[in-house]
Amino acid sequence: MDELITSHDWDVVIVGAGPVGGHTANILAKLGHSVLLLEEHNEIGRPFQCAGLVTPNAMKQVGLYDTILEEIDGALIHGPSGTLVPVGTGGTVRTYVVCRKLFDEAVVRQSMTSGATLWLNSKPVNADAKSDGVILTVNKDGNEIQISTKLLIGCDGAHSWTRRYFKMGRPKELMIGFQTEVVGYQYRKRWLEMYSGSEIAPGFFAWVIPSGNDSCRIGLWSTADRLDGKSIEECYHNLLNHPLWKERFSDVRETARYCGPVPSGMVKKAYKNRVLLIGDAAGMAKPTTGGGIGPGFEQINGIVDKLSIAINLNDLSEDKLKSIAKNHFEKMRKEQNRARSLRNLLVSDCEDDELDRNFEQFAKPEIIQLINQVGDIEKPVPLGMALIRKVPAFRKLALKAGMKLIFS
Ligand SMILES: Cc1cc2nc3c(=O)[nH]c(=O)nc-3n(C[C@H](O)[C@H](O)[C@H](O)COP(=O)(O)OP(=O)(O)OC[C@H]3O[C@@H](n4cnc5c(N)ncnc54)[C@H](O)[C@@H]3O)c2cc1C
Repeated sequence: MDELITSHDWDVVIVGAGPVGGHTANILAKLGHSVLLLEEHNEIGRPFQCAGLVTPNAMKQVGLYDTILEEIDGALIHGPSGTLVPVGTGGTVRTYVVCRKLFDEAVVRQSMTSGATLWLNSKPVNADAKSDGVILTVNKDGNEIQISTKLLIGCDGAHSWTRRYFKMGRPKELMIGFQTEVVGYQYRKRWLEMYSGSEIAPGFFAWVIPSGNDSCRIGLWSTADRLDGKSIEECYHNLLNHPLWKERFSDVRETARYCGPVPSGMVKKAYKNRVLLIGDAAGMAKPTTGGGIGPGFEQINGIVDKLSIAINLNDLSEDKLKSIAKNHFEKMRKEQNRARSLRNLLVSDCEDDELDRNFEQFAKPEIIQLINQVGDIEKPVPLGMALIRKVPAFRKLALKAGMKLIFS
């Protein structure tokens, strides 16, 4: 028999004060719960590993418009042989570029204003999930402290301690992202650029994103198997020295560089007795763009009302958490799987010559119009399906797509 925990120090302890941990803490604290946020670093928002794109929908939820560095109306997408596909409309904002340091700090500040407590320099070292609560040993400023909580939420990112400690599986894909901050790139104001090709970003794409004050973020992402022995840095150099585009990069001067993981593909079970995983910890980044902030917000938003009631009742067994989270999480997982299948079909599993042929189709005015009408950075599946249905050259993919979507 478990020893009873007669009173809990906290309703909820959240491991990780990134954007998703901060937002989760904010909405739970607003609902009246006592929330403790643990952050292993001694400041919020460092180290920085992000292109900083935040969709209008995600931004609306936190209202942090003062952290925006640039507004982006569209993307200039380059095929491996240079075919250009411009997607977007001048004057209509598709996404924002934020300063992630300011953004993360502000999200965490919102949670503190709502009543959450933040412990910096603090990380869990041991946890025991009992039937009525979790006993957590926390290393705070070098000293070990024992605390109790009704619920433990892991928002501790791609390498989540919570996920590993409670053996909650692994995200389906772990992409590698590499990025530099530069000055000297002649960019088109309000537009980001994307570059493709097996030498630059095998199966995925590279990006150049304006980031305020005439600086840009140049990055790329791929998976270890697709890199096939190449280093991600080698791919970056291939982009900067590509015969088609090297002129554009000839004056860039690097001011910073980062490398980080992008976990995409929700773990099989993001809940266990008194433990939940949210955000990158659960593998929520989008397989099509790598964006993880919006999906992390959506993951917690979809369950918070029922979760709040369960916290009040201290009814947080695995079965209860399953009944709260399963439908919402499964819907999100299915959408991720479908997006990954379509991504693989149209982009990731294509050789460069096939990708070039796809780009020739994408570049037709009527297809660009279709992409602009149906394309939504938040929901790539309807666009993928519309392309397969409406573009004669892609119809041969319909059967393959149908099978993949049925089994995804
Ligand atoms: C190169 C690159 C570019 C990207 N670009 C974008 C983009 O443009 N838009 C976008 O939406 N996403 C982007 N992403 C993904 C995005 O960075 C993540 O999806 C997002 O940060 C996830 O937020 P999170 O709060 O779940 O995790 P994180 O931001 O990783 O936050 C986790 C927090 O937990 C802390 N932590 C970790 N372990 C512990 C522990 N044991 N104890 C205490 N604290 C701990 C960390 O210090 C950190 O503060 C990019 C990723 C990479 C690598």
